[in-house]
Amino acid sequence: MSNQEKTKECPGCAMDVPKDADVCPICGYEFPKQPLSVKIGVWILIFLLLLWYFF
Ligand SMILES: [Zn+2]
Repeated sequence: MSNQEKTKECPGCAMDVPKDADVCPICGYEFPKQPLSVKIGVWILIFLLLLWYFF
């Protein structure tokens, strides 16, 4: 079923909720988001570590 691709399992209530939902509509569980800013922050950290390592 292609429907599976649009849903994810909520760790709070084990129900299928829309994949793009930030909060579970059933139990209110807040899904931990991985926003782009976090990834950028990680890359900046790696970059700074590399700079610190080489200089
Ligand atoms: Zn839930």
